[in-house]
Amino acid sequence: MNRPLLIAAAILSAAPGLAVEVPVGVARVDVTPTHPVVLTGYGHRVGEFQGVDAPLWARAMAIGDDPAVIVAVDNCGVPTPVVAEVRRRVAESKAFDPSRLVVASTHTHNAPQLAGYAPLIWEGRDTPEQRQHVADYTAWLTGKIVEVATAAVRDRKPAELSWGQGRATFGGNRRLMIDGVWKGFAFQEKAPVDHSMPAMFARRDGKLVAVWANYACHCTSAGSENRVGPDWAGFAAEEIERDAPGATAVITIGCGADVGPQPTGNVGLSRRHGRALADAVAAVAKGPNVPLSAGPEVVQATIELPLASVPGREHWEKEAKREGFEGRHARRMLAQLDRDGKLPAAVPYPIAAWRFGGDLAIVFLPGEVTVDYAVRLKGEMDWTRLWINGWSNDVPGYIPSKRVLAEGGYEPDFSQIYYGWPTHYSPDVEDLLVSTVESLLGDGFRKTADTPAPDFFAVPEALLPSMRK
Ligand SMILES: [Zn+2]
Repeated sequence: MNRPLLIAAAILSAAPGLAVEVPVGVARVDVTPTHPVVLTGYGHRVGEFQGVDAPLWARAMAIGDDPAVIVAVDNCGVPTPVVAEVRRRVAESKAFDPSRLVVASTHTHNAPQLAGYAPLIWEGRDTPEQRQHVADYTAWLTGKIVEVATAAVRDRKPAELSWGQGRATFGGNRRLMIDGVWKGFAFQEKAPVDHSMPAMFARRDGKLVAVWANYACHCTSAGSENRVGPDWAGFAAEEIERDAPGATAVITIGCGADVGPQPTGNVGLSRRHGRALADAVAAVAKGPNVPLSAGPEVVQATIELPLASVPGREHWEKEAKREGFEGRHARRMLAQLDRDGKLPAAVPYPIAAWRFGGDLAIVFLPGEVTVDYAVRLKGEMDWTRLWINGWSNDVPGYIPSKRVLAEGGYEPDFSQIYYGWPTHYSPDVEDLLVSTVESLLGDGFRKTADTPAPDFFAVPEALLPSMRK
């Protein structure tokens, strides 16, 4: 091609209305357990699941010539060992570059426990047979994640790709604080939320073939009954797929560690919140949205999130005499001390980001990330081009902000027992995490004088009645 033609092609591809097509593929696979297995997410369930309210799915979207692949799994937490095994098999098959894969969990609390996830939820309360069932489901799911990711890569065909942001409003802060002290879980009307809802769309011949939407809220609206279900994220995907026949809808979760669906407590509410998210997606789908002209550049960095100072053997020997979770946790810590001679002082934390030129940066954070990280990152960077996922590539526990650590309560303190860590985090984790994300994104994503102030971190007064019980 000679020079004038090259310039003409460049002008043509940049002209509005003449979108460039990007290879996009999707796939989904049913991951509903077919054998007895314990569910996870709540510490007081007893025994294996008693029924299925709705199926569980793993849904995947592959984007670009050198595909970046997102798999969203209807599960409470897909841990590092599973993701590592998926990547190993993808590398072996040469289906695509496994470093460009993200495995995200929807955090539904009505899906099977996986080996390696939050071990203390079941350890010491389960039977050898139940442990075997967990191992069997974990192995089976691992194969399904490989299968769905590979199928999405194979499914790639040129599509018009675009993204935009809307609002969904059923997330409410769930940390009940009274006189500065954490008191439990309840809708805290004045505390921060992230009501933004980024969404990506792929169309062929004007028809939607893929939707990927993100919202910062726990998947805990169905309550703690011992039944299988995908909670609001799964119902949202189902509703979006019903609205756009032939499309596959991937749902990932933002910094919603301390944000819960309001109101909450039964499957009917899960369906209602799922429909609300699908309505928000339908509104954004109408556009106008920002076209994306190629797959993303993938950047990543693994940091170590420091824990506070770890208590010594004497502490654990005393605690080991206690009943319940504290006692079982202490006995696990002693066993770890006997085996390794020490307890971990930090938590490995692999962060990834997908940069679509200067048009969009999607950040993937492991674990249950508190909403303050969205408030800070979307306040310091240009939120109009930023999308943040939690529960990505690993779920090592809650990631508290400085504020939440200082306040204390379930997320910064007790949950570390479920996740098998010896103590809570150091307050340094906030600056470390934020500065790593900001350096991965680069100065091109900093906010400018033209960036509007975010308007989605507080629940609008008018919506409060619909969110109360
Ligand atoms: Zn959680």
